[in-house]
Amino acid sequence: MSQNSTADRRPSSDADVCVVGSGVAGALVAYTLSSRGHDVVILEAGQRFDPGNRLEQMEQSLRPHGSLLDIWNMGGPRDQYVTSGGAYYPLNQTRVKAVGGTTLHWLGITPRLHQKDFEMNTRYGLAADWPIDYEDLRPYYAAAEQEMGVAGTQDNPFEPPRETDYPMDAFPASYSDTLFADACDELEITMHSTPQARNSEAYDGRSQCVGFSTCIPVCPSGAKYSADVHVRKAEAEGARVIDRAPVQRIEHDSTGETVDAAVYATPSGDTYRQDADAFVLACGAVETPRLLLLSESPQYPDGLANSSGAVGRYFMDQPIVSVTGELEQPTNQEPIGYHTRESHQFYDHDDPQPGSVKLVFENVNPESVVRPMLSGGDMTSRENVFDFAMGDSWGDEVLDKIESNYPNNRVRLLANPELLPRRENRVTLDESKTDDFGNPVPDVSWNIGSHARETMEFIREVQYDIFDELGATIVSETDLADPPPASHKMGTTRMGTNPEKSVVTPQLRTHDLDNLYIASSSVFVTGGAMNPTLTIAALALKAGEHIDNAL
Ligand SMILES: Cc1cc2nc3c(=O)[nH]c(=O)nc-3n(C[C@H](O)[C@H](O)[C@H](O)COP(=O)(O)OP(=O)(O)OC[C@H]3O[C@@H](n4cnc5c(N)ncnc54)[C@H](O)[C@@H]3O)c2cc1C
Ligand code: SF4
Repeated sequence: MSQNSTADRRPSSDADVCVVGSGVAGALVAYTLSSRGHDVVILEAGQRFDPGNRLEQMEQSLRPHGSLLDIWNMGGPRDQYVTSGGAYYPLNQTRVKAVGGTTLHWLGITPRLHQKDFEMNTRYGLAADWPIDYEDLRPYYAAAEQEMGVAGTQDNPFEPPRETDYPMDAFPASYSDTLFADACDELEITMHSTPQARNSEAYDGRSQCVGFSTCIPVCPSGAKYSADVHVRKAEAEGARVIDRAPVQRIEHDSTGETVDAAVYATPSGDTYRQDADAFVLACGAVETPRLLLLSESPQYPDGLANSSGAVGRYFMDQPIVSVTGELEQPTNQEPIGYHTRESHQFYDHDDPQPGSVKLVFENVNPESVVRPMLSGGDMTSRENVFDFAMGDSWGDEVLDKIESNYPNNRVRLLANPELLPRRENRVTLDESKTDDFGNPVPDVSWNIGSHARETMEFIREVQYDIFDELGATIVSETDLADPPPASHKMGTTRMGTNPEKSVVTPQLRTHDLDNLYIASSSVFVTGGAMNPTLTIAALALKAGEHIDNAL
């Protein structure tokens, strides 16, 4: 399928299933259904990037003045948004719109949720329970780990029960993780491996990780899983992908019980209707509710599948708590965040407060001298390079200069605390601003409640204790009053059995429309403190099965 504007983007005739969005959720649903013999068409708003160009994209990402957004062509008129909550939400940094979606850009950490995440109300009187539990998802988790290719080992005493080994061995602990180990022993904090969708050995036709450490925003070797892998697998099973085809609205029939068509635009200015027997929205936790709200009709003036009024509500992410410290010894960090050890010791709490939190031992370092040199003006001669690195200095002075500007002695601790679903945290349409097709843009309104704040303060103290034990001097820390989000968007079309309070059933079908399904973290009822994507993948495999049975 082509990236150009003249490709055939006319609709498929006789499609069984139309999947909107080709991130990991859409790709896995499409693969499941096409491999079971169904005719599948995927409509994707973004372009297809050639995997053969990833080395150049990596090179571009290393240049200090190259914007990370540019690498995946994010942030133009197509991606306008506003953010109106108490906490700023930098939406375009948290997503990619392209064939493969945000996994083109992600880090690849893949833990499962714990049992308690599905039972927050029963256990703690907080938030709401999911209508399914860990045991319901357990086989799908195992299948998702196989599909994506997860490296891990069963050394985590806090992990929920699992029946199978990980498909690949875990990565060994990084050098800086070994520095943390003594301090954690002393404080009785258990470190264990981090499951991640990155090949520790050749897997599924993709290479072993070769340690470039540019996983965010691009893996040049293909060792990091990205969903374009399953888009290609779906295509090999007969699925068709139409790229640069943003769906403008979903239309229902005269009964209002069935979806008829996905109406999409193309670069040539045409608008088409894609018919199918079943439709799956897999546009992520912001664009999925946005599309439903854009699809209002006389019968559904508040938006499609929104008889509960819950579409767009209960938006969640995890606020990042991180502290960077300096040691009096080399830490030999990777240049870009890539971690091998975590602690889930603070996850299964007995009391409602503080909530769950995941602690991460990170590889970070300040910039290497290479980065400013790459942007340092005229580097066309040996003299210019020396002049940049050394200036007027000579001998030991040069070494001192490089060591003080680019110290190799930093470590960082990071944590994701859970944030409870709050009805007022939501995605709405901002009618005052429009995208390139004249559609109102999404407004992400996000506030951090007292539960998350208390959890953030708790884990910050744990981080201080570790740095104390390590003898590290703190050089920077995230502001607890204004933390950045972890880019884990969730919760805006929640799952439930009560149609008055939720948008989709436990089978991921919308309560209101018989043939409209949602595959996304938007269906999460609570978000826990784990990275969401393995759960998104497990739910997508589950949705694929339900749709297969219904067709
Ligand atoms: C920097 C970064 C690091 C991350 N690291 C991790 C991590 O380590 N572990 C983890 O679990 N998660 C991580 N995440 C989050 C993870 O990437 C997402 O949870 C996951 O990729 C979401 O998958 P998805 O398929 O639901 O949505 P997406 O990947 O966002 O896919 C949605 C797709 O739908 C398309 N689309 C949207 N609207 C329309 C429309 N109207 N018509 C047609 N197509 C449309 C989009 O173009 C996009 O391709 C990270 C995210 C970021 C940004
Ligand atoms: S460290 Fe491994 S996964 Fe990350 S970019 Fe390099 S090769 Fe890819």
